[in-house]
Amino acid sequence: MLVIVFNVGSSSLKFGVFRVDDEAREVLKGSYERFRDGVCEVRIRHEDMDDRWTAECDGVSSAIAEVPALLDRFGLSSIEAVGHRVAHGGALFAAPTILDEATIARIETLTPLAPLHNPANLEAIALSRRLWPEIPQVAVFDTSFHLSNPPFATTYAVPKAWRDAGLRRYGFHGTSHKYVATRVAEEIGIDLADLRIASVHLGNGASICAVNRGVSMDSSMGMTPLEGLVMGTRSGDVDPGAFGHLSRQLGLSIAEVEDALYSQSGLKGLAGSADMRDLEDAATGGDADAQLAIEIYAYRARKYIGAYAAAMAGLDAIVFTGGIGENSPSMRRRILDGLEFMGVRLDHERNQVADLSGRAAPQIQAYGSRVRVLVTETAEQMMIARETAEALARPKPSNGIIAVAVSGRHVHLSRAAVDALFGAGYVLTPETPLRQPGNWAARERVVVKGPKGKLERVAILGPLRARTQVEISRTDSFVLGIDVPVRDSGKLDDTPSVTLVGPAGTVETEGLILAARHIHTNPADAARLGLENGDHVDVHVGDDSRGLTFARTLIRIGANSFTEMHIDTDEANAAGIGGAAEGQIVAGATATIRANHQ
Ligand code: ADP
Repeated sequence: MLVIVFNVGSSSLKFGVFRVDDEAREVLKGSYERFRDGVCEVRIRHEDMDDRWTAECDGVSSAIAEVPALLDRFGLSSIEAVGHRVAHGGALFAAPTILDEATIARIETLTPLAPLHNPANLEAIALSRRLWPEIPQVAVFDTSFHLSNPPFATTYAVPKAWRDAGLRRYGFHGTSHKYVATRVAEEIGIDLADLRIASVHLGNGASICAVNRGVSMDSSMGMTPLEGLVMGTRSGDVDPGAFGHLSRQLGLSIAEVEDALYSQSGLKGLAGSADMRDLEDAATGGDADAQLAIEIYAYRARKYIGAYAAAMAGLDAIVFTGGIGENSPSMRRRILDGLEFMGVRLDHERNQVADLSGRAAPQIQAYGSRVRVLVTETAEQMMIARETAEALARPKPSNGIIAVAVSGRHVHLSRAAVDALFGAGYVLTPETPLRQPGNWAARERVVVKGPKGKLERVAILGPLRARTQVEISRTDSFVLGIDVPVRDSGKLDDTPSVTLVGPAGTVETEGLILAARHIHTNPADAARLGLENGDHVDVHVGDDSRGLTFARTLIRIGANSFTEMHIDTDEANAAGIGGAAEGQIVAGATATIRANHQ
């Protein structure tokens, strides 16, 4: 499939043409920039050609109107789909979405959240639908990847009325973070679901994302792309108390403050240029402002990496991308120097010579460094092309009705735990067979104890497992007084410990989790539903009054599994269902995530 991708800013149009089959291959890359006095600079790269010229063109819209003729010139007029990068998808768009009147109207409702970015994206969408009325178009949102961030990361501690009005953190650069994290997993040959990655995107805009076991857990950007790191012209973090001061002392209006924070701050505000190359040159020449700006830039990034290592309870890899991340060995070194205490050691020679050509992702950590460090080019346009093709190829979920079962709190025990709790060699008594063949609930029960309280008579499910796993609800976690992460079953590294009490003794064991909702299924049902192991689907559960859609439900295929969705008691209560119910798969899987679970 031949896909054109548009990436529209307020003062530039970048686009790429990609041939997408099993992989996405770039065929042509172009940009229209520096619009001034009715002319602009055009750059086109195609095969061995790399041409620049000045064209008559007074803005982004007229540049887009030029594109069909340009494609004709390169024999690329047979495009089959258009992908649009859209800055803000709010809480409405968790995945790439095919554009029709209804989705466009929904995107329009988000303009107040991104008044500087979304209108330009919407204008490009309207124009390209007029230029290519017969061709399907897809929006890929910068925010979608971060919709997995937990509420404690996305919620600002502000009055409820403000939160009700939509004030919350979203995070941006999602397409880039998702791509580079996937690239890291590929490069080092470890499943993304087993990695804790700090993804450091340093371009004109800059953000760091905590990619925790394949999902975004936190992003340094917030409700807008202004929070977080120092950027080319954006401030990043500023004490919100400063705004009243600026108003009272300098008489600045909200619009003036906002404009200054977006376009007169960051590197430009600190040292006069938004371009890191200028600053590095000036700093070498002794310019004190440029020197301080570089120090602030690196310090802020280092603080976020440390914070995200803590957020993810550890760090396996750091990946640098974006113009500065890719091209400035000295900035990479400044950011990482001093992180030896958490296992980060750079190989200075490898850092200096990192060669990214051919989409390489070189590792630049020193021998023996516990944390891997990689550098790679981001490929947002390529990723958008891929996601556009995937969104169009995604089967419409049909007949996706499945049984839903509510899992109460329970434990799976190891042999050693049974010995400690019930006595050496004790054999549990299977009492109730479960619907998953071979699984049962035991007659015996245990007590689960935390620093704040305990859960009595917790069910034990058999057969025994290699590692003890304790599955509770979020409500239970407050009874115990322990902060418990959401995990896929069996992914127990770095999970909190808890005390189990049995008639013969107690065990202190890790493996305390809120089980991620999932669907057990078998190969035949999976094929009928169009699903693969590791896919994630959205499932609607419950009746009209309290029903809701559960996003990101993991598909687990077992040879003999009974097809059934498992949710916990909190989730069941939220959806207003009792013991058993049915759910309907309403949105399909993404192959990118699919690949990571194979
Ligand atoms: P955007 O976010 O607009 O896509 P880029 O990812 O292209 O921006 O990043 C632009 C930034 O990268 C600029 O600050 C530029 O100075 C910086 N940059 C590019 N090459 C180098 C280099 N060799 N050394 C230091 N900084 C560089």
